[in-house]
Amino acid sequence: MEFKNDVELDLTNEEVKHNLSQAFKRVSLEMGQKIPFVINGKKIYKDETKDSVNPADKKEVVGKLSLATQSDIDQAIKSCQQAFADWKFVSVSKRNEIAENLVKLIQQNRYELIAWIVTESGKNISEADGEISELVDFIHSYMIGADELKSGLDYLIPSSVEDREARYLPLGVGVAIAPWNFPASILGGMVMGPVLAGNAMLMKPSNDTGVVGYKLFELMESAGFPDGLINFVTGENEEIGDYVVSHPQIRFINFTGSMSVGLHINQLAAVTQLGQKWIKRVVTEMGGKNAIIVDSDADLDKAATGIVQSAFLMQGQKCSAGSRLIVLNSVYDKLIDKIKAKMKKLSNKPAYENGDIGPVIAQRAFDKIKSYIDYGKNDSQNNTLLEGGNYDESTGWFIEPTLFEVTEKSKIFHEEIFGPVLGALKVDTYEKALSLANDTIYGLTGAVYSNNESHIQEAIDKFYVGNLYFNRKTTGAVVYQHPFGGFNMSGTDCKTGTTNYVQQFLELQSVTRSY
Ligand code: NAP
Repeated sequence: MEFKNDVELDLTNEEVKHNLSQAFKRVSLEMGQKIPFVINGKKIYKDETKDSVNPADKKEVVGKLSLATQSDIDQAIKSCQQAFADWKFVSVSKRNEIAENLVKLIQQNRYELIAWIVTESGKNISEADGEISELVDFIHSYMIGADELKSGLDYLIPSSVEDREARYLPLGVGVAIAPWNFPASILGGMVMGPVLAGNAMLMKPSNDTGVVGYKLFELMESAGFPDGLINFVTGENEEIGDYVVSHPQIRFINFTGSMSVGLHINQLAAVTQLGQKWIKRVVTEMGGKNAIIVDSDADLDKAATGIVQSAFLMQGQKCSAGSRLIVLNSVYDKLIDKIKAKMKKLSNKPAYENGDIGPVIAQRAFDKIKSYIDYGKNDSQNNTLLEGGNYDESTGWFIEPTLFEVTEKSKIFHEEIFGPVLGALKVDTYEKALSLANDTIYGLTGAVYSNNESHIQEAIDKFYVGNLYFNRKTTGAVVYQHPFGGFNMSGTDCKTGTTNYVQQFLELQSVTRSY
């Protein structure tokens, strides 16, 4: 199979616009319903539910998520185990055929999926459409990955007295614990990578975006994945979070989210439970505090555009968002003026009209981001407000894109805020810029705007991040173009959208037959 990136919609096309507006109408009629969790093909509706709300209008309930209990999780794991017993013997070509059905269904339902994503996550239409393309690309890349790995190792030394083979086997039952910010593509990729490798999965979306998760799950069911192979579960973290991670029958955890939750999961998973027969494998994709360096000879217009896009689109709620700006003294004032001018031009139209700036996801995110803005305003020794700084939660959770000038001591310069807040710092030398860029526990993305070849080479040698970019933004990694994943506390770095990603959910068995 030859890989081709999915093509995004042309949002200026009249037919596309019409289809989108129809989809938004259909979604608004369907909103507020009870959403089941699903075990072995059986929809389970509970009286205990949790509202998922529209972050742009928090009175609007997008769906009522049924809350699973620990005994529901036991059932879900048991059903995955049963499905795994058959699925591990299904050929890669058959698995991939079902995955291709899923891709077709995603395309047929593209407009609805976009409308659900926009309504439940608050991102705009372009971002939601890009996410659908990413989802399709992830599935295709994992189909290719599974196919590449199916024949095992091809470099064993042959022998005349024995046959030697090293083949990949799936691990068993895993759980995908996904973040809210790419509620279709990350969740879908985290389930499909392991499933196409032959595993069975519990699919746990974030409660903030459980409706999108369920809509995607429905398409997986329709595509033909057998009942029980993928069980969709929603619930409170206090009830099912630690429980599922610690469960002795869970073989691996595929987690994407914040560093604090990722490390907590990693720690819990390391404790051997009664009846557990394996060391759990934990795959974590976590946060970032991504730096953008602007050198003294950089194209400042290009840099300002990339910085504003990296820091503020999707309200800065991408793990890859640029949130630390390190600028050489000689160009600092000029660059800041350009950034401020571009920030003023960001449009506030609603997400369904594809405005640039929408809401942040939830009350806890609003409170956290607000606390950093308030800290920045109050600690004037280390922070100076340059632009923005306002927030409003009267209807939805809105925060103005905000730029601070900061010192090295500012919390804004070191901690992941996961919101539209950028800290800018001036430095005297390029060496200092590089050393500050690396002065973080994270290592996800980074960018350098420079035309100085020796500086570019120096950054290649020293700037320690999983995704390093020159003269472009830190966000917008595309499958098969920019394999994505971070170093250090940003995760275990098995790049998404690659064969390496699929390989994490397999183990290698050496089989030798002597004559
Ligand atoms: P989060 O709060 O860490 O949540 C991630 C997932 O973990 C959610 O499904 C969450 O459920 C669940 N969870 C929380 N506590 C749990 C527990 N004790 N046991 C089991 N599951 C638990 O992160 P988020 O706010 O959704 O996403 C933002 C973070 O993800 C940022 O730090 C961002 O940088 C990171 N991220 C990283 C990547 C990457 O590729 N490196 C990509 C996207 C996002 P609930 O949501 O229902 O609480």
